[in-house]
Amino acid sequence: MKEESLLFKSNLSGLKAALSKNPSSVIKIVKKSGLRGRGGAGFPTGLKWELCAKAKGEHLVLCNADEGEPGTFKDKLIITKAALNLIEGIIIACHAIKAKNALIYLRGEYSYLIPTLKKAIRKTEPFLKKKKISIGIILGQGAYICGDETAILNSIEGKRPEPRKKPPYPAIHGLYGKPTLINNVETLAMIPLIFLKKFDATKRLCSFSGDLKNAGVFEIREGKQIGKLVEKAEPIGIPKALCFGASGGIIPYDPCMPLTEKNIRDRGAWLGACSIIVINHAHSIVELCESIQKFFVHESCGYCAPCREGNERILEILKRISHSEGTMHDLKELEELCDFVSKASFCALGKSAPLHVITALRHFKEEFVRRCR
Ligand code: SF4
Repeated sequence: MKEESLLFKSNLSGLKAALSKNPSSVIKIVKKSGLRGRGGAGFPTGLKWELCAKAKGEHLVLCNADEGEPGTFKDKLIITKAALNLIEGIIIACHAIKAKNALIYLRGEYSYLIPTLKKAIRKTEPFLKKKKISIGIILGQGAYICGDETAILNSIEGKRPEPRKKPPYPAIHGLYGKPTLINNVETLAMIPLIFLKKFDATKRLCSFSGDLKNAGVFEIREGKQIGKLVEKAEPIGIPKALCFGASGGIIPYDPCMPLTEKNIRDRGAWLGACSIIVINHAHSIVELCESIQKFFVHESCGYCAPCREGNERILEILKRISHSEGTMHDLKELEELCDFVSKASFCALGKSAPLHVITALRHFKEEFVRRCR
């Protein structure tokens, strides 16, 4: 992390402060903090806690540590350097919704972080014993779709990791039918800071990668000019575009643009899990789209036809255009297919899969036209 972060300074005082309050007060404080989910969807955290706490049955907490979005590695850094904050957040969540069991669903490739998590869990043992809470760790099976909050449930239950129809939402009917509070790593790690009165909703962690000398995780403040952030990461060559992970879309690089969700949305993209991949002028946007599309074809779970078949067809057309074998008719079909897949797919993966092509065609269409006959 390139800027000094409060996350590195845990001494369990946030946890102590939260546990001294009753569960409903804890939920009220989290609601008031303005914290929203940092995994991508941005749902208000306190509201999710409240909905789950009100549901009938044995409550569970599930930490989604299946960080699989290309270009995203902030959760890995949090677990590596601030695992104690995460465990504190999990215990506070258990206290708030009266859960006795919590699980961390850890990305399979992060298995080497299990000892770090276990060490942090051991440090909180007196609190766990007092509240009779147990925290387990389960390794993900290596599919991008397991980051979906319902596919993760099927994965843990030993079923094919396909998304479930919503509603019912996991907060009401989740793991084994029990009310399950699912929060991402960064979201939970922020919780102790709220009780130390040090949480700032305008700050978040952002993974910067791509054509940069100094790629890494930065603590950024909403509204800061993107050019200032990219300069800090030392661009290689002249930046041309920003790509928000695989699913967030591609927009032209404008150094004066303040980094806000609204500014990114106005350009047709979305910030999601806050991964920014800087693309310089040496790269072709068509080839970038082809590469991202290969990822989605590989990661589609295959459950619904629009995503399973549509993404294959999109890739075929992109390959033709990329090899200068496409036509203007292909380009039209590409636009129609992307529109169809984004509207007809069953879950967020399929709905967001064509966004990189949709935004590339909006902002960089001449690069596609140049390669068409
Ligand atoms: S949209 Fe894609 S990932 Fe989602 S259910 Fe359909 S096939 Fe699976």
